[in-house]
Amino acid sequence: MDLLEYQAKELFREIGIPVLPSQRIENPREIKGLLLPYPVVLKSQVRVGGRGRSGGVRFVENTIDAIAAARTIFNLSILGEYPKVLLAEAKYDAERELYLAVVLDYTAKRPVLLGSGRGGMDAEAVMQHMQQVVVNQEFSPFYGRHLAIAMGLQGQLIESVSTIVEKMYQLFVQKDLDLVEINPLGVSSDGKVMALDGKIAVNDDAIERHRDLELLVSKLADAKKPPSSLKTELRRLNWSTKEGNLGIICNDTSLAMATLDLVSEAKGKPCECLILGEDIPTLHPQQLESALEQLTQSKNLKAILVNILGNAAYCEEIATVMGSYLQERVEKKTAIGAMKIPHIILRLGGGNLDFDVDRFPDLSIHAIDNLDNAIERAIALAKLPAKTS
Ligand code: GDP
Ligand code: MN
Repeated sequence: MDLLEYQAKELFREIGIPVLPSQRIENPREIKGLLLPYPVVLKSQVRVGGRGRSGGVRFVENTIDAIAAARTIFNLSILGEYPKVLLAEAKYDAERELYLAVVLDYTAKRPVLLGSGRGGMDAEAVMQHMQQVVVNQEFSPFYGRHLAIAMGLQGQLIESVSTIVEKMYQLFVQKDLDLVEINPLGVSSDGKVMALDGKIAVNDDAIERHRDLELLVSKLADAKKPPSSLKTELRRLNWSTKEGNLGIICNDTSLAMATLDLVSEAKGKPCECLILGEDIPTLHPQQLESALEQLTQSKNLKAILVNILGNAAYCEEIATVMGSYLQERVEKKTAIGAMKIPHIILRLGGGNLDFDVDRFPDLSIHAIDNLDNAIERAIALAKLPAKTS
């Protein structure tokens, strides 16, 4: 489960990683009571990345612009997610941006330090310059320095970056996290470092051991709902089981009920069933993304069956949205390392359309036309662990 940026930064502040003064905004009207001096940066608090590119991070110079920007951000979906909260932060003049992360390498079962001298929004550049150091023995400051030097840093920056890495590592271990990431770590012209963006993935199985994390995660519960002004809300079949491992997405209520029935009859264990809007043939693409995102976050989920009935154009649109969603996941995965991606079984009925699964050799994606076969495969895959690669 990913925390929101402001929550990650609370944990950063506690452990002594430098963060800027900031304030949470739950409504554009609260901007008037902002205590920070302008210029200020307003940031959408959603759990998906790429906010900068999608317009979810805006710099403002005065109250009027800030109110307008806040309104825009509240109504902006990023990969299907709407913010419930914005973070207003002092602006920081970064001369240089670095990328830092601590992740668990699932194969080696060891923490890995990641660092790139080219942090920021250009994921490709970040990746190209990525350095990694496996922490294969008890942690010592040596590991952080080793990373900083591999990143090509010099002088005082080696010390300040390795200190941050050490604190990130402490946090990672203390709270049993899956990921601690800072991108970017801003470096000012006088060499001071500041965590401008933060990401923390909490390990689902470890939450119960950490009261403070439990509390943070509980605040995320209804973070996904779009504002009521937008009529693209996902519907949920009023039925779900905690023990289930198979998520279902359909584009119509009766189709959803029939699918559930068939899955149960075949001894599958559905956990949740989401329905995309019924206003065929216009699909709101963010609904599919949002549905996939929501299901992926559910605890025991292993596989998602997407069962769509529609005309050729509708199915084609679904295929396109699915393709770009998966592409986005792949990019995110290479950027942050290991993450859970469920098996996805796509059944596009009526479209007579081939979804090219070979585009995603590293994911477990299956396009199956025949509904019975699709259900059978989904149930079988749901018994396997979700792919973490
Ligand atoms: P992301 O796109 O979701 O990763 O959002 P970020 O929080 O990383 O913001 C996107 C970009 O905005 C960052 O890469 C920075 O370049 C810039 N940015 C974010 N916060 C600040 C800030 O406080 N000061 C300055 N100067 N730039 C910032
Ligand atoms: Mn970022």
